[in-house]
Amino acid sequence: MKMSRLFAPTLREVPAEAEIASHKLLLRAGFIRKSTAGIYTYLPLGWRVIRKIEQIVREEMNAAGGQEIMLPIVQPAELWRATGRWELYGPEMFRLRDRHEREFCLGPTHEEIITELVKNDVRSYKQLPLLLYQIQNKYRDERRPRFGLMRGREFIMMDLYSFDRAPEGAAASYAGMYAAYEAIFRRCGLDFRAVEADAGAIGGSGGTHEFMVLAEAGEAEVVFCPDCAYAANTEKAEAVPPSAPPDPPPADPPPRAEIATPDARTIKELTKMLGLPPHRLIKTIIYKGDGCYFAIALRGDRAVNEVKVHNALGPFRELRLATEEEVRVLLGCGPGFVGPVGLPAEARLAVDGEAAVPAAFVCGANKQDAHWRHVLPGRDFPLALTGDFRLVTAGEPCPRCGASLQSARGIEVGQVFNLGQKYSEALSASFLDEEGRAQNFYMGCYGIGVSRTMAAAAEQFSDEDGLVWPPSIAPYHCVVIPAGAQDAETMQAAETIYAALRAAGVETVLDDRNERSGVKFKDADLIGFPFRLVLGAKNLALGRVELKNRRTGQTELIALAEAADAVRRRLED
Ligand code: ATP
Ligand code: MG
Repeated sequence: MKMSRLFAPTLREVPAEAEIASHKLLLRAGFIRKSTAGIYTYLPLGWRVIRKIEQIVREEMNAAGGQEIMLPIVQPAELWRATGRWELYGPEMFRLRDRHEREFCLGPTHEEIITELVKNDVRSYKQLPLLLYQIQNKYRDERRPRFGLMRGREFIMMDLYSFDRAPEGAAASYAGMYAAYEAIFRRCGLDFRAVEADAGAIGGSGGTHEFMVLAEAGEAEVVFCPDCAYAANTEKAEAVPPSAPPDPPPADPPPRAEIATPDARTIKELTKMLGLPPHRLIKTIIYKGDGCYFAIALRGDRAVNEVKVHNALGPFRELRLATEEEVRVLLGCGPGFVGPVGLPAEARLAVDGEAAVPAAFVCGANKQDAHWRHVLPGRDFPLALTGDFRLVTAGEPCPRCGASLQSARGIEVGQVFNLGQKYSEALSASFLDEEGRAQNFYMGCYGIGVSRTMAAAAEQFSDEDGLVWPPSIAPYHCVVIPAGAQDAETMQAAETIYAALRAAGVETVLDDRNERSGVKFKDADLIGFPFRLVLGAKNLALGRVELKNRRTGQTELIALAEAADAVRRRLED
Protein backbone atom coordinates (compact mmCIF):
# COMPACT_ATOMS: atom_id res chain seq x y z
CA MET A 1 0.00 0.00 0.00
CA LYS A 2 1.19 3.48 -0.84
CA MET A 3 0.81 5.96 1.98
CA SER A 4 -0.39 8.61 -0.48
CA ARG A 5 -3.41 6.37 -1.24
CA LEU A 6 -4.08 5.04 2.25
CA PHE A 7 -7.30 6.34 3.80
CA ALA A 8 -5.94 6.98 7.27
CA PRO A 9 -6.96 10.51 8.22
CA THR A 10 -4.84 11.48 11.22
CA LEU A 11 -5.94 14.08 13.75
CA ARG A 12 -3.89 16.68 15.60
CA GLU A 13 -6.53 17.25 18.24
CA VAL A 14 -8.65 14.51 19.72
CA PRO A 15 -12.13 15.14 21.15
CA ALA A 16 -12.11 15.82 24.88
CA GLU A 17 -14.33 12.78 25.52
CA ALA A 18 -11.42 10.48 24.60
CA GLU A 19 -10.00 9.89 28.07
CA ILE A 20 -7.76 6.88 27.69
CA ALA A 21 -4.73 6.22 25.50
CA SER A 22 -6.32 3.61 23.24
CA HIS A 23 -9.35 5.76 22.45
CA LYS A 24 -7.23 8.84 21.74
CA LEU A 25 -4.68 7.02 19.63
CA LEU A 26 -7.13 4.98 17.55
CA LEU A 27 -8.89 8.24 16.65
CA ARG A 28 -5.69 10.25 16.12
CA ALA A 29 -3.98 7.62 14.00
CA GLY A 30 -7.04 7.20 11.78
CA PHE A 31 -8.13 3.67 12.77
CA ILE A 32 -11.70 4.48 13.77
CA ARG A 33 -14.25 7.28 13.62
CA LYS A 34 -17.23 7.83 15.86
CA SER A 35 -20.67 7.77 14.28
CA THR A 36 -22.71 8.32 17.42
CA ALA A 37 -22.35 7.40 21.09
CA GLY A 38 -20.84 3.91 21.30
CA ILE A 39 -21.07 3.31 17.53
CA TYR A 40 -17.99 3.44 15.35
CA THR A 41 -16.75 3.08 11.80
CA TYR A 42 -13.59 1.05 11.27
CA LEU A 43 -11.28 2.73 8.77
CA PRO A 44 -8.87 0.62 6.69
CA LEU A 45 -6.13 0.40 9.32
CA GLY A 46 -8.61 -0.41 12.08
CA TRP A 47 -10.42 -2.96 9.94
CA ARG A 48 -7.16 -4.74 9.12
CA VAL A 49 -6.48 -5.15 12.85
CA ILE A 50 -10.01 -6.46 13.38
CA ARG A 51 -9.61 -8.94 10.51
CA LYS A 52 -6.35 -10.22 11.98
CA ILE A 53 -7.83 -10.74 15.42
CA GLU A 54 -10.82 -12.47 13.81
CA GLN A 55 -8.50 -14.73 11.84
CA ILE A 56 -6.61 -15.80 14.96
CA VAL A 57 -9.95 -16.41 16.69
CA ARG A 58 -11.22 -18.45 13.71
CA GLU A 59 -8.13 -20.60 13.51
CA GLU A 60 -8.24 -21.46 17.21
CA MET A 61 -12.01 -22.03 17.26
CA ASN A 62 -11.75 -24.33 14.25
CA ALA A 63 -8.80 -26.16 15.82
CA ALA A 64 -10.89 -26.69 18.96
CA GLY A 65 -13.67 -28.29 16.92
CA GLY A 66 -15.87 -25.25 16.35
CA GLN A 67 -17.90 -24.79 13.16
CA GLU A 68 -18.62 -21.28 11.96
CA ILE A 69 -22.18 -20.18 11.31
CA MET A 70 -24.04 -16.88 11.14
CA LEU A 71 -27.10 -16.32 13.30
CA PRO A 72 -29.59 -13.52 12.78
CA ILE A 73 -29.07 -10.20 14.52
CA VAL A 74 -32.82 -9.49 14.58
CA GLN A 75 -34.43 -11.90 17.04
CA PRO A 76 -38.09 -12.44 17.96
CA ALA A 77 -39.23 -11.50 21.46
CA GLU A 78 -41.01 -14.84 22.06
CA LEU A 79 -37.75 -16.72 22.41
CA TRP A 80 -36.51 -14.28 25.00
CA ARG A 81 -39.80 -14.43 26.87
CA ALA A 82 -39.44 -18.20 27.12
CA THR A 83 -36.22 -17.85 29.13
CA GLY A 84 -37.48 -14.85 31.09
CA ARG A 85 -34.73 -12.68 29.70
CA TRP A 86 -36.99 -10.32 27.73
CA GLU A 87 -37.70 -8.67 31.10
CA LEU A 88 -34.43 -9.46 32.83
CA TYR A 89 -32.22 -7.89 30.19
CA GLY A 90 -33.82 -4.53 30.84
CA PRO A 91 -32.92 -1.27 29.15
CA GLU A 92 -29.66 -2.63 27.74
CA MET A 93 -31.61 -4.42 25.05
CA PHE A 94 -32.32 -2.60 21.79
CA ARG A 95 -35.98 -3.39 21.04
CA LEU A 96 -38.00 -2.80 17.90
CA ARG A 97 -41.35 -3.59 16.30
CA ASP A 98 -42.11 -4.64 12.78
CA ARG A 99 -45.00 -3.34 10.66
CA HIS A 100 -47.31 -5.91 12.30
CA GLU A 101 -46.40 -4.65 15.78
CA ARG A 102 -44.46 -7.83 16.50
CA GLU A 103 -41.59 -7.31 18.93
CA PHE A 104 -37.95 -8.01 18.22
CA CYS A 105 -34.57 -7.19 19.62
CA LEU A 106 -31.13 -6.67 18.16
CA GLY A 107 -29.12 -9.57 19.55
CA PRO A 108 -27.09 -8.64 22.64
CA THR A 109 -26.10 -12.34 22.83
CA HIS A 110 -27.42 -15.51 21.20
CA GLU A 111 -28.16 -18.29 23.71
CA GLU A 112 -31.89 -18.31 22.97
CA ILE A 113 -31.67 -18.39 19.21
CA ILE A 114 -28.99 -21.04 19.02
CA THR A 115 -30.71 -23.28 21.54
CA GLU A 116 -33.83 -23.09 19.39
CA LEU A 117 -31.80 -23.98 16.31
CA VAL A 118 -30.13 -26.98 17.90
CA LYS A 119 -33.37 -28.10 19.54
CA ASN A 120 -35.00 -28.38 16.12
CA ASP A 121 -32.12 -29.95 14.23
CA VAL A 122 -30.18 -32.16 16.63
CA ARG A 123 -31.95 -35.36 17.62
CA SER A 124 -29.40 -37.86 18.82
CA TYR A 125 -26.51 -38.12 21.26
CA LYS A 126 -24.50 -39.31 18.26
CA GLN A 127 -24.46 -35.74 16.93
CA LEU A 128 -22.83 -34.49 20.15
CA PRO A 129 -20.67 -32.71 21.15
CA LEU A 130 -21.55 -29.85 18.83
CA LEU A 131 -19.65 -26.57 18.90
CA LEU A 132 -21.02 -23.68 16.82
CA TYR A 133 -19.69 -20.15 16.64
CA GLN A 134 -20.08 -16.88 14.81
CA ILE A 135 -18.36 -13.53 14.58
CA GLN A 136 -20.79 -10.64 14.22
CA ASN A 137 -22.03 -7.34 15.61
CA LYS A 138 -23.73 -7.37 18.98
CA TYR A 139 -26.04 -4.66 20.25
CA ARG A 140 -26.25 -3.47 23.84
CA ASP A 141 -27.66 -0.11 24.80
CA GLU A 142 -25.03 0.38 27.50
CA ARG A 143 -25.81 2.83 30.26
CA ARG A 144 -22.42 4.48 29.75
CA PRO A 145 -20.88 3.80 26.37
CA ARG A 146 -17.31 5.06 26.66
CA PHE A 147 -13.65 4.63 25.97
CA GLY A 148 -14.28 4.19 22.25
CA LEU A 149 -14.38 0.54 21.22
CA MET A 150 -13.95 -0.56 24.83
CA ARG A 151 -17.61 -0.18 25.73
CA GLY A 152 -19.61 0.26 22.58
CA ARG A 153 -23.31 -0.11 21.88
CA GLU A 154 -22.56 -1.88 18.61
CA PHE A 155 -19.48 -4.09 18.88
CA ILE A 156 -17.95 -7.18 17.33
CA MET A 157 -18.08 -10.41 19.26
CA MET A 158 -17.12 -13.99 18.62
CA ASP A 159 -19.56 -16.25 20.43
CA LEU A 160 -19.33 -20.01 20.53
CA TYR A 161 -21.94 -22.34 22.02
CA SER A 162 -21.24 -25.92 23.02
CA PHE A 163 -23.81 -28.71 23.30
CA ASP A 164 -22.96 -31.88 25.19
CA ARG A 165 -24.79 -34.99 26.33
CA ALA A 166 -23.45 -35.04 29.91
CA PRO A 167 -21.75 -32.82 32.49
CA GLU A 168 -18.38 -34.52 31.86
CA GLY A 169 -18.54 -33.67 28.18
CA ALA A 170 -19.57 -30.10 28.99
CA ALA A 171 -16.56 -29.83 31.31
CA ALA A 172 -14.30 -31.06 28.53
CA SER A 173 -15.77 -28.49 26.11
CA TYR A 174 -15.19 -25.80 28.71
CA ALA A 175 -11.58 -26.87 29.23
CA GLY A 176 -11.02 -26.93 25.47
CA MET A 177 -12.38 -23.42 25.08
CA TYR A 178 -10.39 -22.15 28.04
CA ALA A 179 -7.21 -23.45 26.39
CA ALA A 180 -8.21 -22.01 23.01
CA TYR A 181 -8.82 -18.60 24.61
CA GLU A 182 -5.38 -18.70 26.18
CA ALA A 183 -3.90 -19.49 22.77
CA ILE A 184 -5.85 -16.64 21.12
CA PHE A 185 -4.78 -13.95 23.56
CA ARG A 186 -1.20 -15.24 23.58
CA ARG A 187 -1.11 -15.09 19.79
CA CYS A 188 -2.48 -11.54 19.93
CA GLY A 189 0.62 -10.73 21.99
CA LEU A 190 -1.39 -9.63 25.03
CA ASP A 191 -0.45 -9.70 28.69
CA PHE A 192 -3.57 -11.28 30.21
CA ARG A 193 -4.86 -13.36 33.08
CA ALA A 194 -7.83 -15.72 33.38
CA VAL A 195 -9.83 -15.06 36.54
CA GLU A 196 -12.81 -16.62 38.30
CA ALA A 197 -15.85 -14.48 37.64
CA ASP A 198 -19.50 -13.89 38.35
CA ALA A 199 -21.98 -15.22 35.79
CA GLY A 200 -24.19 -12.10 35.79
CA ALA A 201 -27.23 -12.11 33.50
CA ILE A 202 -25.93 -15.08 31.49
CA GLY A 203 -26.42 -17.24 34.58
CA GLY A 204 -25.94 -20.98 34.54
CA SER A 205 -24.82 -23.52 37.07
CA GLY A 206 -21.22 -24.25 36.17
CA GLY A 207 -18.14 -22.13 36.54
CA THR A 208 -17.15 -19.06 34.61
CA HIS A 209 -13.83 -17.36 33.90
CA GLU A 210 -13.05 -13.97 32.47
CA PHE A 211 -9.95 -13.25 30.43
CA MET A 212 -8.50 -9.94 31.52
CA VAL A 213 -5.94 -7.87 29.68
CA LEU A 214 -3.96 -6.17 32.40
CA ALA A 215 -4.07 -2.39 32.02
CA GLU A 216 -4.54 0.54 34.39
CA ALA A 217 -7.46 1.84 32.31
CA GLY A 218 -9.36 -1.42 32.83
CA GLU A 219 -12.83 -1.12 34.32
CA ALA A 220 -12.48 -4.32 36.33
CA GLU A 221 -10.35 -5.03 39.34
CA VAL A 222 -8.88 -8.47 39.84
CA VAL A 223 -7.08 -10.05 42.76
CA PHE A 224 -4.57 -12.83 42.31
CA CYS A 225 -2.36 -14.93 44.51
CA PRO A 226 1.40 -14.70 44.02
CA ASP A 227 1.86 -18.25 45.35
CA CYS A 228 -0.94 -20.36 43.86
CA ALA A 229 -3.16 -20.23 40.76
CA TYR A 230 -6.03 -18.37 42.45
CA ALA A 231 -7.19 -15.29 40.55
CA ALA A 232 -10.63 -13.70 40.58
CA ASN A 233 -12.57 -10.63 39.58
CA THR A 234 -13.20 -8.68 42.79
CA GLU A 235 -16.93 -9.07 42.02
CA LYS A 236 -16.37 -12.75 42.64
CA ALA A 237 -13.32 -12.95 44.96
CA GLU A 238 -14.15 -14.91 48.09
CA ALA A 239 -13.44 -13.43 51.49
CA VAL A 240 -11.73 -15.77 53.90
CA PRO A 241 -14.06 -16.12 56.92
CA PRO A 242 -12.32 -14.60 59.97
CA SER A 243 -11.10 -17.29 62.37
CA ALA A 244 -10.56 -15.33 65.58
CA PRO A 245 -11.74 -11.75 66.11
CA PRO A 246 -8.85 -9.30 66.22
CA ASP A 247 -10.20 -7.72 69.44
CA PRO A 248 -12.21 -10.26 71.46
CA PRO A 249 -14.61 -8.78 74.01
CA PRO A 250 -13.98 -9.23 77.74
CA ALA A 251 -15.39 -12.34 79.44
CA ASP A 252 -18.09 -10.25 81.09
CA PRO A 253 -19.01 -7.73 78.40
CA PRO A 254 -20.78 -4.53 79.44
CA PRO A 255 -24.27 -3.87 78.04
CA ARG A 256 -24.50 -1.71 74.96
CA ALA A 257 -24.57 1.99 75.64
CA GLU A 258 -25.63 4.97 73.56
CA ILE A 259 -23.07 7.62 72.74
CA ALA A 260 -23.74 11.06 71.33
CA THR A 261 -22.02 11.47 67.99
CA PRO A 262 -23.26 14.75 66.57
CA ASP A 263 -22.23 15.31 63.00
CA ALA A 264 -20.21 12.07 62.79
CA ARG A 265 -21.74 10.82 59.55
CA THR A 266 -18.86 8.99 58.02
CA ILE A 267 -16.58 6.24 59.23
CA LYS A 268 -13.72 8.72 59.02
CA GLU A 269 -15.46 11.32 61.18
CA LEU A 270 -16.50 8.66 63.65
CA THR A 271 -13.07 7.05 64.01
CA LYS A 272 -11.61 10.49 64.65
CA MET A 273 -14.22 11.38 67.25
CA LEU A 274 -13.99 8.05 69.09
CA GLY A 275 -10.32 7.31 68.59
CA LEU A 276 -11.14 3.81 67.35
CA PRO A 277 -9.78 2.02 64.25
CA PRO A 278 -12.42 1.56 61.48
CA HIS A 279 -12.47 -2.23 61.90
CA ARG A 280 -14.03 -1.73 65.36
CA LEU A 281 -17.02 -0.05 63.76
CA ILE A 282 -19.91 -1.64 61.92
CA LYS A 283 -21.42 0.29 59.07
CA THR A 284 -24.86 -0.57 57.78
CA ILE A 285 -25.89 0.23 54.25
CA ILE A 286 -29.53 0.23 53.18
CA TYR A 287 -30.27 -1.14 49.72
CA LYS A 288 -33.50 -1.37 47.83
CA GLY A 289 -33.97 -4.53 45.78
CA ASP A 290 -37.15 -4.63 43.68
CA GLY A 291 -38.99 -2.46 46.23
CA CYS A 292 -37.80 -4.26 49.41
CA TYR A 293 -35.25 -2.91 51.88
CA PHE A 294 -32.10 -4.77 52.83
CA ALA A 295 -29.63 -3.68 55.49
CA ILE A 296 -26.09 -4.88 54.90
CA ALA A 297 -23.90 -4.69 58.00
CA LEU A 298 -20.15 -4.95 57.60
CA ARG A 299 -16.94 -3.76 59.19
CA GLY A 300 -16.20 -0.05 58.90
CA ASP A 301 -13.07 -0.63 56.84
CA ARG A 302 -14.85 -2.77 54.22
CA ALA A 303 -16.98 -2.08 51.15
CA VAL A 304 -20.18 -3.83 50.05
CA ASN A 305 -19.92 -6.15 47.06
CA GLU A 306 -23.25 -5.58 45.30
CA VAL A 307 -22.83 -8.66 43.11
CA LYS A 308 -22.64 -10.86 46.22
CA VAL A 309 -25.70 -9.09 47.66
CA HIS A 310 -27.57 -9.64 44.41
CA ASN A 311 -26.61 -13.32 44.29
CA ALA A 312 -27.34 -14.06 47.96
CA LEU A 313 -30.52 -12.01 48.42
CA GLY A 314 -31.82 -11.68 44.84
CA PRO A 315 -31.97 -12.04 41.96
CA PHE A 316 -33.32 -8.53 41.60
CA ARG A 317 -34.42 -6.74 38.51
CA GLU A 318 -33.04 -3.62 40.15
CA LEU A 319 -30.73 -3.32 43.14
CA ARG A 320 -29.65 0.12 44.26
CA LEU A 321 -28.66 2.12 47.31
CA ALA A 322 -31.63 3.53 49.18
CA THR A 323 -31.82 7.30 48.86
CA GLU A 324 -31.24 9.49 51.91
CA GLU A 325 -34.95 10.34 51.88
CA GLU A 326 -35.92 6.65 51.87
CA VAL A 327 -33.57 5.98 54.79
CA ARG A 328 -35.08 8.86 56.78
CA VAL A 329 -38.62 7.63 56.19
CA LEU A 330 -37.64 4.05 57.09
CA LEU A 331 -35.53 4.75 60.18
CA GLY A 332 -35.97 8.38 61.16
CA CYS A 333 -32.28 9.19 60.82
CA GLY A 334 -29.71 9.97 58.16
CA PRO A 335 -27.68 7.22 56.46
CA GLY A 336 -24.67 7.99 58.71
CA PHE A 337 -26.47 6.77 61.83
CA VAL A 338 -27.91 3.49 60.58
CA GLY A 339 -27.07 0.34 62.52
CA PRO A 340 -28.13 -3.33 62.75
CA VAL A 341 -29.67 -3.05 66.25
CA GLY A 342 -33.47 -2.95 66.40
CA LEU A 343 -34.15 -2.56 62.68
CA PRO A 344 -37.81 -2.53 61.63
CA ALA A 345 -39.16 -5.73 60.09
CA GLU A 346 -39.36 -4.27 56.60
CA ALA A 347 -35.57 -3.95 56.45
CA ARG A 348 -34.05 -7.41 56.17
CA LEU A 349 -30.67 -7.57 57.92
CA ALA A 350 -27.74 -9.37 56.30
CA VAL A 351 -24.48 -9.43 58.26
CA ASP A 352 -21.08 -9.87 56.67
CA GLY A 353 -18.96 -12.61 58.29
CA GLU A 354 -16.47 -10.18 59.80
CA ALA A 355 -19.23 -8.23 61.53
CA ALA A 356 -20.70 -11.44 62.98
CA VAL A 357 -17.67 -12.43 65.09
CA PRO A 358 -17.75 -12.22 68.88
CA ALA A 359 -16.28 -8.75 69.32
CA ALA A 360 -17.46 -5.44 70.72
CA PHE A 361 -18.33 -2.97 67.98
CA VAL A 362 -19.60 0.56 67.62
CA CYS A 363 -22.52 1.03 65.27
CA GLY A 364 -25.23 3.52 64.37
CA ALA A 365 -28.25 3.70 66.72
CA ASN A 366 -30.87 4.37 64.01
CA LYS A 367 -31.29 7.74 65.69
CA GLN A 368 -29.93 11.05 64.51
CA ASP A 369 -26.54 11.96 66.05
CA ALA A 370 -26.25 8.74 68.06
CA HIS A 371 -24.32 5.49 67.99
CA TRP A 372 -24.17 2.43 70.21
CA ARG A 373 -21.00 1.06 71.71
CA HIS A 374 -20.27 -2.35 73.32
CA VAL A 375 -22.44 -3.91 70.62
CA LEU A 376 -22.07 -7.69 70.41
CA PRO A 377 -23.19 -9.51 67.26
CA GLY A 378 -25.78 -12.12 68.17
CA ARG A 379 -26.54 -10.48 71.52
CA ASP A 380 -27.52 -7.06 70.25
CA PHE A 381 -28.61 -7.88 66.72
CA PRO A 382 -29.70 -11.12 65.08
CA LEU A 383 -27.37 -13.27 63.01
CA ALA A 384 -30.13 -15.08 61.15
CA LEU A 385 -28.58 -14.14 57.84
CA THR A 386 -24.81 -13.97 57.64
CA GLY A 387 -22.51 -14.46 54.71
CA ASP A 388 -19.86 -12.94 52.50
CA PHE A 389 -21.13 -9.56 51.34
CA ARG A 390 -17.94 -7.58 50.92
CA LEU A 391 -15.28 -6.68 48.41
CA VAL A 392 -11.94 -8.37 48.85
CA THR A 393 -8.90 -6.13 48.56
CA ALA A 394 -5.17 -6.54 48.06
CA GLY A 395 -3.32 -7.71 51.14
CA GLU A 396 -6.10 -10.02 52.32
CA PRO A 397 -5.36 -13.75 52.52
CA CYS A 398 -5.82 -15.96 49.46
CA PRO A 399 -8.92 -18.16 49.97
CA ARG A 400 -6.98 -21.17 48.64
CA CYS A 401 -3.54 -20.94 50.22
CA GLY A 402 -3.55 -17.98 52.61
CA ALA A 403 -0.80 -15.96 50.92
CA SER A 404 -1.31 -12.21 50.66
CA LEU A 405 -3.42 -11.32 47.60
CA GLN A 406 -2.29 -8.76 45.05
CA SER A 407 -4.55 -6.68 42.85
CA ALA A 408 -4.48 -5.29 39.32
CA ARG A 409 -6.83 -3.60 36.89
CA GLY A 410 -8.02 -5.42 33.82
CA ILE A 411 -10.01 -5.13 30.61
CA GLU A 412 -12.37 -8.08 30.14
CA VAL A 413 -11.76 -9.34 26.61
CA GLY A 414 -13.46 -12.70 26.90
CA GLN A 415 -15.58 -14.88 29.14
CA VAL A 416 -16.35 -18.58 29.20
CA PHE A 417 -19.44 -20.05 30.89
CA ASN A 418 -20.44 -23.56 31.79
CA LEU A 419 -24.21 -23.09 31.58
CA GLY A 420 -25.49 -26.49 32.61
CA GLN A 421 -29.09 -26.97 31.47
CA LYS A 422 -30.40 -23.45 32.15
CA TYR A 423 -31.29 -22.64 28.56
CA SER A 424 -32.07 -26.14 27.34
CA GLU A 425 -34.55 -26.57 30.20
CA ALA A 426 -36.19 -23.21 29.63
CA LEU A 427 -36.58 -23.92 25.92
CA SER A 428 -37.19 -27.70 26.27
CA ALA A 429 -34.22 -28.47 24.04
CA SER A 430 -33.47 -32.16 24.23
CA PHE A 431 -31.84 -35.05 22.39
CA LEU A 432 -32.32 -38.81 22.67
CA ASP A 433 -29.65 -40.65 24.68
CA GLU A 434 -28.39 -44.20 24.13
CA GLU A 435 -31.48 -45.63 25.85
CA GLY A 436 -33.77 -43.50 23.72
CA ARG A 437 -34.68 -41.19 26.60
CA ALA A 438 -35.02 -37.44 26.06
CA GLN A 439 -32.33 -35.43 27.86
CA ASN A 440 -31.72 -31.72 27.94
CA PHE A 441 -28.45 -30.52 26.44
CA TYR A 442 -25.57 -29.47 28.66
CA MET A 443 -24.45 -26.15 27.28
CA GLY A 444 -21.57 -23.75 27.43
CA CYS A 445 -21.16 -20.30 25.93
CA TYR A 446 -17.97 -18.47 25.19
CA GLY A 447 -17.56 -14.87 24.07
CA ILE A 448 -14.65 -12.78 22.89
CA GLY A 449 -14.94 -9.05 22.36
CA VAL A 450 -13.09 -8.74 19.07
CA SER A 451 -13.37 -4.95 18.85
CA ARG A 452 -12.60 -4.60 22.54
CA THR A 453 -9.54 -6.80 22.09
CA MET A 454 -8.26 -4.31 19.52
CA ALA A 455 -8.79 -1.46 21.99
CA ALA A 456 -7.17 -3.48 24.78
CA ALA A 457 -4.10 -4.14 22.65
CA ALA A 458 -3.88 -0.43 21.85
CA GLU A 459 -4.19 0.32 25.54
CA GLN A 460 -1.55 -2.16 26.61
CA PHE A 461 0.88 -1.31 23.82
CA SER A 462 1.33 2.40 23.29
CA ASP A 463 3.73 5.12 24.32
CA GLU A 464 3.83 8.91 24.12
CA ASP A 465 4.52 8.71 20.36
CA GLY A 466 1.63 6.43 19.44
CA LEU A 467 0.56 2.83 19.01
CA VAL A 468 2.93 -0.14 19.30
CA TRP A 469 1.16 -3.09 17.66
CA PRO A 470 2.26 -6.65 18.35
CA PRO A 471 3.28 -7.93 14.87
CA SER A 472 0.55 -10.62 14.84
CA ILE A 473 -2.26 -8.04 14.81
CA ALA A 474 -0.51 -4.98 13.35
CA PRO A 475 -2.37 -3.45 10.38
CA TYR A 476 0.88 -3.66 8.39
CA HIS A 477 4.20 -5.12 9.44
CA CYS A 478 6.54 -2.55 8.01
CA VAL A 479 6.75 0.99 6.64
CA VAL A 480 9.36 2.03 4.09
CA ILE A 481 10.35 5.66 4.35
CA PRO A 482 12.38 7.37 1.65
CA ALA A 483 14.02 10.16 3.66
CA GLY A 484 15.99 13.26 2.93
CA ALA A 485 15.86 14.73 -0.57
CA GLN A 486 13.73 11.88 -1.98
CA ASP A 487 15.51 12.07 -5.32
CA ALA A 488 14.84 9.65 -8.11
CA GLU A 489 17.51 7.25 -6.92
CA THR A 490 16.11 7.07 -3.37
CA MET A 491 12.58 6.60 -4.69
CA GLN A 492 13.75 3.86 -7.02
CA ALA A 493 15.50 2.05 -4.16
CA ALA A 494 12.34 2.45 -2.07
CA GLU A 495 10.19 0.90 -4.80
CA THR A 496 12.62 -2.01 -5.13
CA ILE A 497 12.68 -2.76 -1.44
CA TYR A 498 8.89 -2.32 -1.23
CA ALA A 499 8.48 -4.98 -3.93
CA ALA A 500 10.99 -7.29 -2.24
CA LEU A 501 9.21 -6.98 1.12
CA ARG A 502 5.85 -7.81 -0.42
CA ALA A 503 7.37 -10.76 -2.25
CA ALA A 504 8.70 -11.97 1.11
CA GLY A 505 5.18 -11.84 2.53
CA VAL A 506 5.81 -8.73 4.64
CA GLU A 507 2.75 -6.46 4.67
CA THR A 508 4.25 -3.11 3.82
CA VAL A 509 3.32 0.54 3.38
CA LEU A 510 5.54 2.71 1.23
CA ASP A 511 5.45 6.28 2.46
CA ASP A 512 5.65 7.93 -0.94
CA ARG A 513 4.21 11.23 0.22
CA ASN A 514 5.99 14.42 -0.60
CA GLU A 515 6.46 15.25 3.07
CA ARG A 516 9.37 16.09 5.35
CA SER A 517 11.05 13.04 6.89
CA GLY A 518 10.08 14.25 10.35
CA VAL A 519 6.38 14.13 9.44
CA LYS A 520 6.77 10.61 8.05
CA PHE A 521 8.61 9.40 11.16
CA LYS A 522 5.93 10.87 13.42
CA ASP A 523 3.12 9.23 11.46
CA ALA A 524 4.96 5.89 11.41
CA ASP A 525 5.29 5.99 15.19
CA LEU A 526 1.68 7.11 15.63
CA ILE A 527 0.28 4.28 13.48
CA GLY A 528 2.61 1.82 15.19
CA PHE A 529 4.15 -0.24 12.39
CA PRO A 530 6.31 -2.86 14.16
CA PHE A 531 9.21 -2.17 11.74
CA ARG A 532 10.41 0.91 9.92
CA LEU A 533 12.96 0.96 7.11
CA VAL A 534 14.50 4.36 6.41
CA LEU A 535 16.26 5.01 3.13
CA GLY A 536 18.61 7.98 3.37
CA ALA A 537 21.00 9.04 0.63
CA LYS A 538 24.11 8.60 2.79
CA ASN A 539 23.32 5.03 3.83
CA LEU A 540 22.07 4.12 0.37
CA ALA A 541 25.39 5.19 -1.12
CA LEU A 542 26.97 2.58 1.16
CA GLY A 543 24.34 0.01 0.18
CA ARG A 544 22.64 0.17 3.59
CA VAL A 545 19.26 0.99 5.11
CA GLU A 546 18.25 1.69 8.69
CA LEU A 547 15.85 -0.76 10.35
CA LYS A 548 14.02 0.38 13.49
CA ASN A 549 12.01 -1.80 15.85
CA ARG A 550 9.03 0.25 17.13
CA ARG A 551 8.73 -1.66 20.39
CA THR A 552 12.37 -1.70 21.50
CA GLY A 553 13.36 1.49 19.71
CA GLN A 554 16.53 -0.25 18.53
CA THR A 555 17.95 0.69 15.18
CA GLU A 556 20.43 -1.22 13.07
CA LEU A 557 22.00 -0.78 9.68
CA ILE A 558 21.49 -3.65 7.28
CA ALA A 559 22.50 -4.34 3.72
CA LEU A 560 19.91 -3.12 1.24
CA ALA A 561 19.87 -6.45 -0.58
CA GLU A 562 19.08 -8.34 2.67
CA ALA A 563 16.56 -5.92 4.10
CA ALA A 564 13.41 -7.76 3.07
CA ASP A 565 14.71 -11.04 4.38
CA ALA A 566 15.84 -9.41 7.63
CA VAL A 567 12.37 -8.00 8.32
CA ARG A 568 10.74 -11.32 7.49
CA ARG A 569 13.05 -13.15 9.88
CA ARG A 570 12.42 -10.69 12.70
CA LEU A 571 8.67 -11.07 12.19
CA GLU A 572 8.96 -14.82 12.43
CA ASP A 573 10.79 -14.56 15.77
P1 ATP B 1 -18.99 -6.13 30.59
O1 ATP B 1 -19.00 -6.71 31.96
O2 ATP B 1 -17.70 -5.47 30.23
O3 ATP B 1 -20.19 -5.28 30.29
P2 ATP B 1 -20.09 -8.58 29.77
O4 ATP B 1 -19.58 -9.46 30.84
O5 ATP B 1 -21.48 -8.10 29.83
O6 ATP B 1 -19.10 -7.35 29.58
P3 ATP B 1 -20.17 -10.79 27.93
O7 ATP B 1 -21.62 -11.00 27.84
O8 ATP B 1 -19.37 -11.72 28.74
O9 ATP B 1 -19.85 -9.27 28.36
O10 ATP B 1 -19.60 -10.67 26.43
C1 ATP B 1 -18.44 -11.31 25.95
C2 ATP B 1 -17.37 -10.30 25.60
O11 ATP B 1 -17.87 -9.27 24.76
C3 ATP B 1 -16.81 -9.57 26.78
O12 ATP B 1 -15.83 -10.33 27.42
C4 ATP B 1 -16.24 -8.32 26.15
O13 ATP B 1 -14.95 -8.58 25.66
C5 ATP B 1 -17.16 -8.07 24.99
N1 ATP B 1 -18.10 -6.97 25.29
C6 ATP B 1 -19.16 -7.00 26.10
N2 ATP B 1 -19.80 -5.83 26.12
C7 ATP B 1 -19.12 -5.01 25.28
C8 ATP B 1 -19.29 -3.66 24.85
N3 ATP B 1 -20.28 -2.92 25.30
N4 ATP B 1 -18.39 -3.16 23.96
C9 ATP B 1 -17.38 -3.91 23.49
N5 ATP B 1 -17.18 -5.19 23.86
C10 ATP B 1 -18.03 -5.74 24.74
MG1 MG C 1 -18.55 -11.00 30.67
